Amino acid sequence: MHDQYQRPARDLRLSVTDRCNFRCLYCMPLPDYAWVERKELLTFEEIVRLTRLFVQLGVEKIKLTGGEPLLRRNLEDLIARLTAIPGVRDLCLTTNGSLLAERAERLRAAGLQRVNVSLDTLDAEKFRRITQRGELGRVLEGLFEAKRVGLHPVKINAVIERGVNEDDIIPLARFSLEHGFALRFIEYMDVGTANAWRWEKVVPKAEIVRILMREFPLREIGREHESDTAVRYHLADGRGDIGIIASVTEPFCAGCTRVRLTSDGKLVTCLFSAEGYDLKALLRGGASDEEIRAAISRVWGARRDRYSEERWEALRAGRLLPPRPRWEMIRLGG
Ligand code: SAM
Ligand code: SF4
Ligand code: SF4
Repeated sequence: MHDQYQRPARDLRLSVTDRCNFRCLYCMPLPDYAWVERKELLTFEEIVRLTRLFVQLGVEKIKLTGGEPLLRRNLEDLIARLTAIPGVRDLCLTTNGSLLAERAERLRAAGLQRVNVSLDTLDAEKFRRITQRGELGRVLEGLFEAKRVGLHPVKINAVIERGVNEDDIIPLARFSLEHGFALRFIEYMDVGTANAWRWEKVVPKAEIVRILMREFPLREIGREHESDTAVRYHLADGRGDIGIIASVTEPFCAGCTRVRLTSDGKLVTCLFSAEGYDLKALLRGGASDEEIRAAISRVWGARRDRYSEERWEALRAGRLLPPRPRWEMIRLGG
């Protein structure tokens, strides 16, 4: 199954809920939102059935996300069922870490192998300001517990926003190196509209590298696979795993093999979409596996998304893309 630019669908981002117990300023700062109604959520049976079909169409890797995926009840059951699907090579969870300390052991037992934890600062007060509701101590406990139970790698994701946390780049790198966590810095993106993104708030990859180089002699490794989002670095002595996800200043749409399924069953082909194809309607309308596979192939086959490249072309020409409606990341699945 290939899209209009010959890109296959290899990575499935499964959003298991749009709800979240944080309100990160760069993601979903609003107190309230038109949350998906519970009856509209895909059941685990529906998620597993669709995942099987995606795998038959070429998907190999799955990332569980949200909203905050650990808010979905019995997520461990879903993990056990997803890891049992033949052809699933990799299953990962992206979480804000707030509930990880008490869940890590059960997640590991269910078959989860690795975890990504979002953490943008090591300053407790700033952490509270950014997340509006989070407690740094809980997330740190979650990180160490994930490592203790053998999840590997435990990866930290840090969104860097100008005027907010450039000064956390070095402390986060030191912390990750000291404790054996992988680390990814993420350029601040214009996902959704609630965060009031501005280009001036982006700290470009080149600047993040310059800051890191002041303390760490980094050696660029590059991307392992064409579809990877992060450009990776080691220290000169080979230690460490630091990466930068430069979706704004070095867009990687050309290798984008990511397909998204929202918690209410919409198939979405780009992080910057404002619409999705309703697979739940097919599921609940009694469609056969063959019909659903055909629908997925049709939607993917028509895909022409390359938003980040278009945005970068515009920025280089000193322009911004005209505003267009789009879903919040909390709904799409990060
Ligand atoms: N709640 C979970 C978490 O925070 O890890 C999973 C969902 S969250 C939407 C997934 C990832 O998207 C997080 O690493 C978060 O930092 C990132 N993210 C959210 N808003 C972003 C933005 N405007 N630019 C770049 N990354 C963003
Ligand atoms: Fe923050 Fe993740 Fe919740 Fe977005 S979904 S507000 S990034 S914790
Ligand atoms: Fe993929 Fe869309 Fe992001 Fe480009 S902008 S890398 S097509 S999700």
